[in-house]
Amino acid sequence: MLSTMQDVPLTVTRILLHGMTIHAKSQVTTWTGESEPQRRSFAEVGARAAQLAGALRDELGVTRDERVATLMWNNSDHVEAYFAIPSMGSVLHTLNLRLPPEQLIWIVNHAADRVVLVNGSLLPLIAPLLPHLPTVEHVVVSGPGDRTPLTDAVAATASGVQVHEYEELIAGRPATYDWPKLDERAAAAMCYTSGTTGDPKGVVYSHRSIYLHSMQVNMAESMGLTDKDTTLVVVPQFHVNAWGLPHATFMTGISMLMPDRFLQPAPLADMIEREKPSHAAAVPTIWQGLLAEVTANPRDLSSMVRVTIGGSACPPALMEAYDKLGVRLCHAWGMTETSPLGTTSNPPAGLTAEEEWPYRVTQGRFPVGVEARLTGPGGDTLPWDNESAGELEVRGPWIAGSYYGGADAEPLKPEDRFSEDGWLRTGDVGVISPDGYLTLTDRAKDVIKSGGEWISSVELENALMGHPDIAEAAVVAVPDEKWGERPLATVVLKDGASADYESLRTFLAGKIAKWQLPERWSVVPAVPKTSVGKFDKKVIRRQYADGELD
Ligand code: ADP
Repeated sequence: MLSTMQDVPLTVTRILLHGMTIHAKSQVTTWTGESEPQRRSFAEVGARAAQLAGALRDELGVTRDERVATLMWNNSDHVEAYFAIPSMGSVLHTLNLRLPPEQLIWIVNHAADRVVLVNGSLLPLIAPLLPHLPTVEHVVVSGPGDRTPLTDAVAATASGVQVHEYEELIAGRPATYDWPKLDERAAAAMCYTSGTTGDPKGVVYSHRSIYLHSMQVNMAESMGLTDKDTTLVVVPQFHVNAWGLPHATFMTGISMLMPDRFLQPAPLADMIEREKPSHAAAVPTIWQGLLAEVTANPRDLSSMVRVTIGGSACPPALMEAYDKLGVRLCHAWGMTETSPLGTTSNPPAGLTAEEEWPYRVTQGRFPVGVEARLTGPGGDTLPWDNESAGELEVRGPWIAGSYYGGADAEPLKPEDRFSEDGWLRTGDVGVISPDGYLTLTDRAKDVIKSGGEWISSVELENALMGHPDIAEAAVVAVPDEKWGERPLATVVLKDGASADYESLRTFLAGKIAKWQLPERWSVVPAVPKTSVGKFDKKVIRRQYADGELD
């Protein structure tokens, strides 16, 4: 028997209309690097989103299901695109501005983007790519930045690409739009994984998946924010929809502070001190950098009581350091394929601070929308005993079931990414406790297989980053004649510190089993990072193979 309830589609349009009316006064504040940031209310953002949709449809001929790309920092114009494009029935395609040119070219061509919205400061990045982007017909430029790299490139290639100014395009248009009725399962946004192995893969989010995911982001069990909060969205809008924050904020009226291109530790510290966000979200490397900055030049971070940290494992030492500043780092795990919220490490009720600690350093527990299982090497499902390590598999309404195959092609379901019964194979290895807390020990491809046993690179890194002289540590597997693989520890020292490998080994010895201790060490000036700020272990392995590490 079916229910008697109304069947109202869960759409991004609904989130937009709700945010711009019920939370009309909440704000998107964009850092400008000048004396005053730019401030727009949700009502203004909503009106401008309607103007943008009108311009895209009437001027540029954007149609339903068409992908519209953005190559933009976190700012108010980008939020407008976030709502305008899906709500008009088209698909928001965020481009990762830190990808190498050949990957960006591949991705734009694969998605067949015809319109690209670009920030003025990023024109030197896109201009040289244009001759390789045959599908692109319109480039819409917003925000400050010299326009000549783009106009010169267009003139030089005679490609017929039309260049528009965002503000001119939307000026004078109606501040309302006749938003179409959409199927909640229709595509709303897409994001390509960064393609560390093989070609990048496109994940296509639906209106429904975004809606449900945003509700989860707002639950107390996850980020738990309300209209009394302001969140500093450091995680880029091109990195899995800024972890769902632009949508979640419009649901509950959380104001947003957007750093635009000012992502260096000093301006981040300035904007926290001045604008006093109560929450922030970013990967661990951002928090490492900010800590070094405020240690050298103290700032008041005390407004920022909560931080969501994820994208790679958060070293416990970093959590402790921020605890001392009154800032609580809350660990979360996710991936492009999981929208991304997969787990959040809120400890269970009724514990003392000391008892909470072992929970805080896990990746966290699964919310109702994410079902999880661990699969052993032989395909068997492992128990949740906090000991049996296996590959994490997940399923749920905001988890990808396939990848974008191309305009007229079938969706892709590679066997190494999806189980036969449709679960997403995450490629992450870990254990789960009986009460559902996940602890990741590694990515499957980063595990160190030494003499038939596994060594967790993350465990070694976390222990090393607890050493007072070490700023960052990345551990990778390197070939070893006797054991197959052994760990190589690359460490970045704090200013003025010197390395003594024997004392580092002694420091680790109390924390890590003796046979797991690295015998290969290298001091490096910086750990190489991926386009979203994670340790790039592929590069470290290559540097070692090329003899570049001593
Ligand atoms: P990329 O593959 O480019 O890193 P994603 O952002 O989708 O793209 O990365 C997802 C992966 O990041 C996860 O599969 C996991 O390995 C890692 N990750 C994310 N959050 C955490 C976390 N809290 N702890 C450890 N690893 C994490």
